[in-house]
This record gives sequence, C-alpha cells and structure tokens, in this order.
Amino acid sequence: MLIIPKFSFGVGDRFGRQGSAQLRAFEKIHAAGIDVAPVWNKSNREHVFIGTKPDSVRTEADAAVRAAGWKTPYFVDADHIGLKTVEDYITASDFFTLDVADFVGKPDADAKTFADRQAGPSGKVRVDLPGGLPPLEAGKSDIEAAADKFLGAVKEAGRIYRFIEKAKGAGNFVTEVSMDETDVAQSPTELYFILAMIAEEGIPAQTIAPKFTGRFNKGVDYVGDVAGFDREFESDVAVAIVAAKTFGLPTGLKLSVHSGSDKFSIYPGIRKACRKFDAGVHVKTAGTTWVEEIAALASVGGEGLALAKEIYGEASAHIDEMTAAYAAVIDIDRGKLPTPAEIADWSAERLCATFRHDPRNPEYNPNARQFIHVAFKVAAKLGRRYLDLLDKFAKPVGEAVTENIYQRHLVPLFKSDA
Ligand SMILES: [Zn+2]
Repeated sequence: MLIIPKFSFGVGDRFGRQGSAQLRAFEKIHAAGIDVAPVWNKSNREHVFIGTKPDSVRTEADAAVRAAGWKTPYFVDADHIGLKTVEDYITASDFFTLDVADFVGKPDADAKTFADRQAGPSGKVRVDLPGGLPPLEAGKSDIEAAADKFLGAVKEAGRIYRFIEKAKGAGNFVTEVSMDETDVAQSPTELYFILAMIAEEGIPAQTIAPKFTGRFNKGVDYVGDVAGFDREFESDVAVAIVAAKTFGLPTGLKLSVHSGSDKFSIYPGIRKACRKFDAGVHVKTAGTTWVEEIAALASVGGEGLALAKEIYGEASAHIDEMTAAYAAVIDIDRGKLPTPAEIADWSAERLCATFRHDPRNPEYNPNARQFIHVAFKVAAKLGRRYLDLLDKFAKPVGEAVTENIYQRHLVPLFKSDA
C-alpha cells in the first residue's frame, strides 16, 4: 500500500514555475535531519481559473524531483475533487482529497442503525484518550445526530473512493477525506464517529481534514482563540490515534490541516501535539508561493516592480470579481487597501514589504496580502508577460520561494524548539 510518510506538507504552484525552488525547502529540512514529504496540490478551481490541466502538476513535480535527485517519497494531490471532477486527475495524482463538504448535513436513512450499532446494548460510548485528556462520552442521540450530519457525506466519499480504486487499483494511492469547507467546525467526538463511518464505508483514509474552530483566511495568520485551537487539535490527534486502532483504519492515520496558507500562530501547537503523541500531520498550503512570486518581483525593482504594481492596479479595478469566489475565506477591509494611485511611487522595498508575510514589519498589510492572494487571475490573463518575468528573475524569485517555505513554514512546524 502506498503510504504517506509521517510528516508531509502541501505546496501549490499556480503558474508551475517554482517546483524546484519549493523542493529545495524540503531538501533543507532533510539536511537538518527531518523528513517531510512534499505534496504538490492544485484544486480543480485553480486549474479552471488559470487554464491548466492536472497533468501539468505531475510533469512539474517529476521534473523537480528528477533535477534534484530527490530520493524519498513525494506526491501529487488531486485537491478537493468530487465525483464530477475526479476523472481528469486519475493518471496525474497519487493522493486524492475527497471533498464531501457539500454533502454534510443531509440526513441519511441509515443514521439510526449506525447509532444503534455504535452505542451497543449500553446505549452509550465512552472513549478513553491518551495523554491525560478527558474521555469522550456520547449517548445514542449524540451519535445519531453525528450520523445525520455526516453519514451521507461519508457515503459520497465512498463512491468517489471506489471510482478511483477501480481506475488505479487498491493501495496505489493515498486517500484523504475532507470536510473543511463547511460552516461549522467538527468536534473531537464528531470526528471520532466520522472515522467510524469512514471505516464502515471501507475507505482506507490516511488523512482526514476536518474543519477546525477559527478563521483560516487566505494567506494570512489564523484568526481566533489560539489556545482553544491548540486544545481542539490535541484532542483531534488523540482521536485519530484511537480511532485508527479501534476501527482498523491505516495505522499512520493523521490530521490534514487545510491552512489556507500561513497560519503561523497555530504552528507551535501543531508541532507540540505531534511531539506529545508521536503523531504525524499533513499541512496543506497553496497560494503562499504565488504571493511570494509577486513580493519577490516587486523587490527586484524596475520592470518587476512595475508589473507587480500593474497586477495590483488591474485587480483593484475588478475587486468584486477577484474576491467573489473567496468571500468565505477572506476578510479584507477595503478601507485599508492602498489605492493604485497611492502605490504608484512606492519603492521596491515598500511594496514587497506590504505583501510579504512578516508580521514584525510595520509595512506588512494583511488586507493587501489577502487581496493579492486571490488576484492571481490577473497574472493568468497576462500570460507570457508574467511568465517571462518569472523566468528572467528566476533566481531571486526562487530563493524567496524556498526561504518562505523553509523558514516560515517547515522550520516552525517540524523543527523549531522555540
Ligand atoms: Zn480545503
């Protein structure tokens, strides 16, 4: 069976130029004695917006790996696919994120029998958790409520899983079930029963992406109660360990955090929980590399700076169109966005600092960063003009991409003791 290693980290590359630069970040952490498997992910939505095909991600990943002589596992993730979209990803991908969020909350006729089975004659379930955590307790009505919310979604995941299994063969791919794009976070108790449903459905899930408490806005830090997240995450890790054993799911079953990129303030809690339970984790990012490209192009001055300003200006002229598809995952205060006229005479350093995610820099503007994060359609429209500049400034842009993934993400998640 193809197994995802204990630690893995998802990277996205909207324009397909930074595969090698991204891989260098994984080489650096490997050189520091920590193995983190790179996973290149691109959602169907991104492919549609940019006009790329799933095979391009496989081509890019393979080329980067070949060029670097990378010897340990790596994956290509069909990110957020469903029955309608999965077909195009079959050959390119060996990691499938089955997105069944749209099926959450649709009551299922089998909910009651599921609850009866789980609750048994006593009519309740008590789950002892490791690590000094309080046990989970649920009565039959709690279990039935969970099944009413999630059983239909898990059955849909089963249909997608079997479609892929038929095409690729069992054991030849990694399966993730994702329910993160819903309105309400799932509690550790709900997660426990979701995993029971996944096991009953016969899905050998290796990663599970619940919705966590708090806001996961695009490209900026976590918004919410960090201590509360830490507690929830620790419980979820413990639940995954116990559920894998109890229900016979793959041993290394781990949580997948769909981070929306750059959730720096919850990285220490994730790292500590993994250490405490000797558990693995998958953290998915995507747009952080695209924003790094723009920040780095701005930083080189001259035509790079001019193009970054042009992209920002063009995006500002179509702000509603840029932000519509992402309304649920951005919080942009439009009053705090600099106008294109204001940035016209800004220096390379100032514009770069506006976009780059350095919270200590007074020029850093999380509103502008979220906005540029969702504005990649403008660069896609520029086509060759954008790509040619990326090629021309491949060195400074690539170095910035590597540093971003390594220093801001891999080190605090997997290495730092701070
Ligand atoms: Zn997601």
